[in-house]
Formats: sequence, structure tokens, C-alpha cells
Amino acid sequence: MTADLTLEIHPAILLIAAPFIGSFLGVLVRRLPTGETAVWGRSRCDACHAPLTVFDLVPLLSFLVLRWSCRHCGVRIDPFHFRIEMAALAIAVWAVAVDGSAAGPDCVLGWALLALAWIDAEHMILPDALTLPLLLLGLGFGWLEAPDLLADRLVGAAVGWLSFAGIAAAYRRLRGRDGLGGGDARLLGAGGAWLGWEALPSVVLFAAVGALLGIGLRTLWLRGKPEAGNVLTEPQPFGPWLALGIWVVRLHGPILG
Ligand SMILES: [Zn+2]
Repeated sequence: MTADLTLEIHPAILLIAAPFIGSFLGVLVRRLPTGETAVWGRSRCDACHAPLTVFDLVPLLSFLVLRWSCRHCGVRIDPFHFRIEMAALAIAVWAVAVDGSAAGPDCVLGWALLALAWIDAEHMILPDALTLPLLLLGLGFGWLEAPDLLADRLVGAAVGWLSFAGIAAAYRRLRGRDGLGGGDARLLGAGGAWLGWEALPSVVLFAAVGALLGIGLRTLWLRGKPEAGNVLTEPQPFGPWLALGIWVVRLHGPILG
């Protein structure tokens, strides 16, 4: 009778699929920010542009068969591909450890957040092509997981989006420049769609504390180097911290309330 039975999936399937999903996320991360339309295309060797196959990209297979190099030109494949595959696998391991066979939706959320965080960290943008589908998926999974809480999630999506959009507009009026991006507002809206409005203060608190800690640690790390001042004056991406906040609250529940 309960709807969540339909979402059960064997953890082994998630763990085996994870590196393949990660390889696809790598294509998204590399192509979405450039506006390339062939987002659904295959990964290519950065040197000779030969299409990379599953054997080239899945780390273990690639290592055993090809020693991590392109089979066409012999150039070593960019370690970025392996890093994002390992990150996608780590997300699946974390989700399965917490939610077992109910971890399927967690993984969908976590993999999308991984791509968003990576793109924002590198390019300071959160593409609508990812945030908006993620928002709709949150409502869709919410409807399947707990239909009676769908209203909470609809309110969460609206409150998340509008509150950050309001703060961003106020900041722009006060300071004459952008503090929060529109992408941050849409990402928090997606978080509200996945978690319900009650979880939003926890997400924002987690993200804000994380961002401050991150800036503090980077300042310490760069102490005495010429880049040190830039950490405090240059805009820093907030998306990765929001993504981490949404992820932790999804798996481990709200800190507040
Ligand atoms: Zn090549």
C-alpha cells in the first residue's frame, strides 16, 4: 500500500552504476558551462578527441586494461574523469550506508548536487538546466515517497527560491553588486522541493557555517601568499555549500527544529 515500495532498489545496483553515472556527470560538468548543446554526447579524449568508452572511463577497468591512457593516442586521460567517478561512488556508498535499499532517490539527488557543486566551484554558475529539473524531481519523488507531505515540499520550493531571490535583490540594492546569484535561489528552491520547508533553516545554517569555515581555512592556508587577500574580497561560490547542506540534511535530518 505504501508508495515507497516502488522506489526500492538493490544497493549493489546503485554502487555498480555509480562510476558510470559519474562518467556522465563529468561530461555535464565539462560541457554545460560552455553552453555546448551536445550535453548528452560521449566523453572524448582531451588530446585526440576519440570517443571514450566505458573501458576508458571506469577507473578500475581503465587501469587494468589501459593503464589510464587513451587507447588511440596513448595520452594519459585527465584525472578529472576519475575524480568525479570516485565522488559519485562515494555519494552512493554514503547514501546506501544510511538508507539501504531506499537510497535510490538519495543518489539521484546527490549526483545532481555533485555536478552542480563542481560546476559552481569552477565557473561560479549553477545552470538552470540542472537546478530546475532537480526541483521538479524533488516534487516528483516527494509525491512517490510521501504524498501527504507534497504540500510541504511545494511550499519548500517556493519559500527556498523566493527567500534567496529576495535577499539577493535587497543585497543588490544596498551594495550595488551581486552577493547571492539567482542560481543559488533556484538551488535552495530545489532543496525545499526535496526536503520540505521545515528543513530550509538547517540547510542555510549548514551552508553558511560551512562557507565561513571554508573561507577561514583558505585564508589560513594562503597566509602570507599574495592570493590570501583575494579570498576575502573576491566572490566565493556558495552553491557547493548549499549542495552539501541539502545533502547532509536529506540523509541525516535537520539540525534545527
Ligand atoms: Zn586520445
